[in-house]
Amino acid sequence: MSSLAGPLLAWYDAHRRDLPWRRTSDPWAILVSEVMLQQTRVEVVEEYWRRFLARFDRPAALAAADDEELLQHWAGLGYYRRARFLKAAAAAVVERHGGRFPADFDALLALPGVGRYTAGAVASIAFGLPRPVVDGNVARVLSRLFLVEGDPTRGATARRLWQLAEEHLDRERPGDFNQAVMELGAVVCRPKSPRCEDCPISGACRARRDGVIDRFPTPKARRAPVDVRVAAAVLRRADEVGLVRRDASARMAGLLDLPALELAPRTDAPRRLSEWLRATFDVSVPRLSRVGTARHGITHHRIEVEVYEAELAPGTEASPPRGDLAAAAPRRIAAAPDADGLRWFRCEDLPGLGLSALGRKILAAAADA
Ligand code: SF4
Repeated sequence: MSSLAGPLLAWYDAHRRDLPWRRTSDPWAILVSEVMLQQTRVEVVEEYWRRFLARFDRPAALAAADDEELLQHWAGLGYYRRARFLKAAAAAVVERHGGRFPADFDALLALPGVGRYTAGAVASIAFGLPRPVVDGNVARVLSRLFLVEGDPTRGATARRLWQLAEEHLDRERPGDFNQAVMELGAVVCRPKSPRCEDCPISGACRARRDGVIDRFPTPKARRAPVDVRVAAAVLRRADEVGLVRRDASARMAGLLDLPALELAPRTDAPRRLSEWLRATFDVSVPRLSRVGTARHGITHHRIEVEVYEAELAPGTEASPPRGDLAAAAPRRIAAAPDADGLRWFRCEDLPGLGLSALGRKILAAAADA
């Protein structure tokens, strides 16, 4: 046993958080938790995880579901590519393994969207296989313990971290060991203000010994923020609102959203928006009223949305979008609509739809007004 494993496992046994996915060894439930926890906080994931598994209790249930229902259950978690990969992985488990997860690391790694980290997590936690994991929390702990310099996600630094994780892995309790290191990184060896006085392995920590904790892990170069100006239309028709589905080629593909376009600086937003609505959907909007502003961040984009509202005559229909016009607008954030164009939804049904987080903020800004 590594000299780290004993104190780490004893600490984990005494202090671990009681999280629902830690009460199961079902590989499907563990895979769902691992995928949801990428980029999303534990407190947010708990409720999503319960609801998701209540509906999709086995891989076969998700494999058979349509995308619309999947996105409804994922809406608000962000990073929607994860949901699609999860569905593809579920389908592969059904097709290749008869719906049962293989207790085999290479077979897990071969599932769509499953990388070395996720395969290691499922293999060790669900099946007790001696496979290490390195995520952001593990990388932070190991880089401080062993003074590993460089970007933890790249090249020689990443290889060194995986090697250390493998060397120190406890072979008797690999799943608990992996979770112990992740837990330590999440609640004790935090990015800022680590609680070294509560750390069970502080005696082995070289960064603490040398007084250089704040230099590890090596900070990543940050991308400069990019400001994106968007104009969005809340089109009302009696008690309905017009929404579009984001095109398959866009970020957050498949989610519902408000019709919106990105604006160049100093553009006359209402004029450009009404021209675009007419040209794209053949909808004539006589007057757009500014009703508010929504702000949102996606990666390094700082998005400011000018929200406009218009009341359309009952019975107003819209044409499917013309591809050339839809493609003409820049698409960093505001997606081109799919071929179905504008669809009408009753206001009372909006909360249950798979809307993007930005779309919800736009509707909230309009509702506040
Ligand atoms: S002693 Fe401090 S910096 Fe070192 S591993 Fe423990 S919590 Fe992290």
